[in-house]
Amino acid sequence: MWDNRIIVIGSGAAGLMAAIHAAEAGSVALITDGPLGRSNSIMAQGGLQLPRPGEAALRSFEDDIRRSARDQVDAERVRTFVENVDTTISELVEWGLDLDRDERGDIVRRSAGGLSEPRIVSVRDQIGPAIMKVLRKVVESCPVEIREHTTVVDLRPIDGGIEVVVRERDGNVKTLRARAVVCCTGGTAHREAVRLAQPTTNPANRNHELFDVLRGLGLPLIQEDYFQYQPFGIVETWGVEGGKCVPESIVNFPVRLLDRERRDIGEIRRDRYDLTHLMFELAEQGRAVELGDGRRGFWLTLSDLDEATIAATFPKVHHFQQRAGALGQDILVYPFLHYYLGGFRTGPRGATEIPGLYLAGEMVGGLHGRNRLMGNGITDSLVHGAIAGKAAREYVARNRN
Ligand SMILES: Cc1cc2nc3c(=O)[nH]c(=O)nc-3n(C[C@H](O)[C@H](O)[C@H](O)COP(=O)(O)OP(=O)(O)OC[C@H]3O[C@@H](n4cnc5c(N)ncnc54)[C@H](O)[C@@H]3O)c2cc1C
Repeated sequence: MWDNRIIVIGSGAAGLMAAIHAAEAGSVALITDGPLGRSNSIMAQGGLQLPRPGEAALRSFEDDIRRSARDQVDAERVRTFVENVDTTISELVEWGLDLDRDERGDIVRRSAGGLSEPRIVSVRDQIGPAIMKVLRKVVESCPVEIREHTTVVDLRPIDGGIEVVVRERDGNVKTLRARAVVCCTGGTAHREAVRLAQPTTNPANRNHELFDVLRGLGLPLIQEDYFQYQPFGIVETWGVEGGKCVPESIVNFPVRLLDRERRDIGEIRRDRYDLTHLMFELAEQGRAVELGDGRRGFWLTLSDLDEATIAATFPKVHHFQQRAGALGQDILVYPFLHYYLGGFRTGPRGATEIPGLYLAGEMVGGLHGRNRLMGNGITDSLVHGAIAGKAAREYVARNRN
């Protein structure tokens, strides 16, 4: 007897998409340890990558991913990702995602380090909240049982299915049985930041706990120790849970990075890997501004932009400057630990070696190599969350009894 045909774990972008796409299977539960939607996904700021229509644009998207990765990528996963982005984002737009448009009504596409053509689309600097609002609305209208404040503490493969051990809000522990499980419990960058005592953009979370359970089940990993830094972490929020950052699309505007002597450190339109390595290297050489308490940074010249532009395009940054009494001023930035590049190795549709167990989102590796391009994080979670949800639905249809 099965409690649910499919259980989806986690309510970030990947989990919500998986639940929506699994819903047709009937008897789907979405289990999440906090309130619905609390996740890294809701923190996303800068935007997502959406290539223009046409084969040439898809090939250049794929080439950018491979070139920036500087290492092995999972070729099938990259191909599946690139080929499904447009359908996935179109679905979100149909559901009500209101992307920034120009005066002609065309979607605005911006550039970022490592992109051979402008591809970043956004909702000002709040792509995460905008996407999550739409997904919450859709999932709540689907036949999905939502179990909030419920933590999955163990997964046990059994004959024909998987046992999901949960701890409820009141501390009660229960064992549920499902035909298929889609696990979307995110990346482990927060734990890595704590381990290294480094600043991070990630809010505190327990994503690593189920990660360790899955590792204990013997699932293979790829590039296990690869993590990424976001170059523009705001030094003032260093050490704060979920430190703030300036979206990388700021490089579309005439800003520079300056060292302690206010010398320009060079081209800032490089990809994250090059830019963060340059910043670390210059800091080692003593060129960063040192605050005397371990914090250091480089000046990002927001003073080169007029206030109206910042307020219209980066309202969160503007709000931060306002609160810090720093309107019209430069701010200190430094690379903050941001994203888990490695992860579990799955099939292109998220299947694992355990029958009925699917994974999606930041916990899966192989898409980015050593360097994720800006805008390919939440996009990966959306695309592969949808695919894994459908794959689980088809799996239970094939294995009905
Ligand atoms: C500040 C910030 C800005 C970002 N900006 C961008 C951007 O502009 N563009 C971009 O592409 N990407 C961006 N990213 C990255 C992107 O947001 C994430 O990589 C992506 O959204 C991860 O989605 P996910 O669904 O895989 O995981 P998450 O969003 O981390 O969701 C994991 C979910 O699993 C739940 N969970 C974990 N463990 C358990 C458990 N044991 N039991 C039950 N539930 C559990 C969590 O509570 C959460 O709901 C940003 C990230 C941050 C932190």
